[in-house]
Amino acid sequence: MEKYHIKPNAKVRLSDYDPNALGDFEGEKRECKKKFKQLCVQLGSLQKKLYAEHKHKILIVFQALDTGGKDGTIRAVFKKVNPQGVKVANFKVPTPIELDHDYLWRVHTKVPGKGEMVIFNRSHYEDVLVVRVHKLVPHEVWSKRYRHINEFEQILTEEGTTILKFFLHIDLEEQKKRFLERLEDPQKNWKFNPKDIEERKLWGKYKEAYEEMLCRTSTDWAPWFVVPANRNWIRNLIVASIIVNTLNKLDMHFPNLIENPEPYKAALESD
Ligand code: ADP
Repeated sequence: MEKYHIKPNAKVRLSDYDPNALGDFEGEKRECKKKFKQLCVQLGSLQKKLYAEHKHKILIVFQALDTGGKDGTIRAVFKKVNPQGVKVANFKVPTPIELDHDYLWRVHTKVPGKGEMVIFNRSHYEDVLVVRVHKLVPHEVWSKRYRHINEFEQILTEEGTTILKFFLHIDLEEQKKRFLERLEDPQKNWKFNPKDIEERKLWGKYKEAYEEMLCRTSTDWAPWFVVPANRNWIRNLIVASIIVNTLNKLDMHFPNLIENPEPYKAALESD
């Protein structure tokens, strides 16, 4: 999965990343889907241990262009986890109260506690993306945020959080196709917002903002992955593989809190 990983401080040009890339999976769609199903089951088992062990905290961040597939990835990859231990946090346009605080205030309240997995659908990265592109705050304000974010994420990891960040990379052709689908399919129509057409025109500016974000905030403690996302099945497989691989390394175990169950068994059997 290293080919999707952005090395700290690496200069990123998104044009070097093909959103149609199949990686090592050339022409093996059926095989990929089978592998993906197995990964979802593994993720379910790992999350069960995460919850039971009550030790690690997992934060998974998704960023993408409009129609980039954040919702679809979350729905597909996490379908086998227990909703009890998993939360999704969506970050929309900040409310007036949120705007009265620093931009990390609303984010910190949503980070995972012990045993939890939290998925960010958009995140604090909006504060160096949409905020930068639309000049919602001056340059000297947003430009300091890369440092804040790295330090914030470092605090989280030093306090036991594992962070993975995914940029779902689609191209403008694919976005057009997906917008047209939203306009034509009554079940998808609600997702279309006329403002999306204006945002689409700003892709050049977003591209610059994403490239700087990827370069400056992919750290040893909170890495970014650029996932080719024009094809859902390959996108899902890559995201699930990276998450399962990372969770496997945590070497989690079901706790064994009762050293000697015999007295309890005897008590139950005699009642
Ligand atoms: P989504 O596109 O994620 O499905 P919405 O259509 O409700 O959900 O879009 C959420 C909007 O909120 C996006 O346009 C996003 O850029 C915006 N947003 C998120 N965080 C911020 C922020 N900190 N400042 C300004 N806008 C933000």
